[in-house]
Amino acid sequence: DFLIVGGGLAGHILQIQLQEKGCSSIVIDYSKSNASSVVAAGLVNPVAGKFFTLTWRAEEIFESLATFYSDVENRLNSSFFTPKTLTRIFATPGEQNIWLSKAHQDKYKSYCSFKNIEIKGLKSNYGVLEIAKGGELDVSLFLGSCKASYSNRNEKFDFEKLNVKSKSYDDIKYKNIVFCEGYEVLYNPYFNHLPFVPTKGELLEIETSLPQSNTVYLGPVFMQPRGGKLWKVGATYAPNIVDKLPTKEKKDDLIKRLNKIIDVPYNIVNQTAGIRPATEDRRPLIGRHSSNENMYVFNGFGSKGVSLIPLLAKEFIDFVLNNAPLHPEVNINRF
Ligand SMILES: Cc1cc2nc3c(=O)[nH]c(=O)nc-3n(C[C@H](O)[C@H](O)[C@H](O)COP(=O)(O)OP(=O)(O)OC[C@H]3O[C@@H](n4cnc5c(N)ncnc54)[C@H](O)[C@@H]3O)c2cc1C
Repeated sequence: DFLIVGGGLAGHILQIQLQEKGCSSIVIDYSKSNASSVVAAGLVNPVAGKFFTLTWRAEEIFESLATFYSDVENRLNSSFFTPKTLTRIFATPGEQNIWLSKAHQDKYKSYCSFKNIEIKGLKSNYGVLEIAKGGELDVSLFLGSCKASYSNRNEKFDFEKLNVKSKSYDDIKYKNIVFCEGYEVLYNPYFNHLPFVPTKGELLEIETSLPQSNTVYLGPVFMQPRGGKLWKVGATYAPNIVDKLPTKEKKDDLIKRLNKIIDVPYNIVNQTAGIRPATEDRRPLIGRHSSNENMYVFNGFGSKGVSLIPLLAKEFIDFVLNNAPLHPEVNINRF
């Protein structure tokens, strides 16, 4: 029923949900080491940024997110999602003040609680904010399990082989084709007019004796425990850059930010980079092609693929199969 181009988080979550609806699908993907999903830290964070912004459509998203991943875990007999309370460190009194000016708002009640505690090894003199309903997806394990369990082909999609009239690609006949190529939608002749903003992100891996627990520290950088002495530290944002090479400039930036919260020695052991499929108005780009009615794009999840894709895949499938309206803020017809 569905030919899906691109096997990152978007393509595979779509495939899982299509199967639940009784639709057949195949994913065509050529794995790239800098695809967003390969590099991603996999964090789910409902309250992010300098001004403690609650994720768009947070209630709908977090109501069902953990259940979605745990159902998939049961089905694939694997374990890749860990619900977590996140710990946001206030690095300055100014940050703490911003929080205190917002703390009374009802919308934060089920997510945030301020704790006046210090964490050994971190500069946490101004207290911390505990953020509930967070989590962490082991993205590599998740994608590996999907590839092992669902129909897919490891090859680069070649637009020369696509025949939109006969709805065929190579030897595959499809009813619907959905493009989920992440930032590489830039090379897709049907959808590259849309306002995507490929945004390069860089991460460090460090070793330090800071004790690891079941939380991820957030602040000027995030610090994600990876077992033993290893931590992932990120991330940077550089719009309109699509090269994959880690840079000294961003390494220095991450070190500077890390030093604002870490109070123990560390060694840098690795640096990685990936490209996020971000968009001009920071909302996904989902919808039907203007002249090929069985052709769709499902993309633009920026830095929040792990949390946004499950809900939006469900709504997208309802749009394709039942003609239900897409949320106006994601529909490509807004451009
Ligand atoms: C440094 C960094 C940290 C991040 N951290 C987080 C995080 O903590 N939490 C979070 O939610 N998100 C995070 N993200 C963002 C997250 O990775 C994305 O939102 C998500 O992975 C997007 O998934 P996607 O499937 O749309 O795109 P991608 O992951 O880019 O997948 C697209 C796939 O399509 C394939 N493809 C493209 N063109 C073709 C073609 N012609 N033929 C065949 N295959 C093709 C690519 O090889 C790739 O496998 C991070 C991103 C970066 C860069």
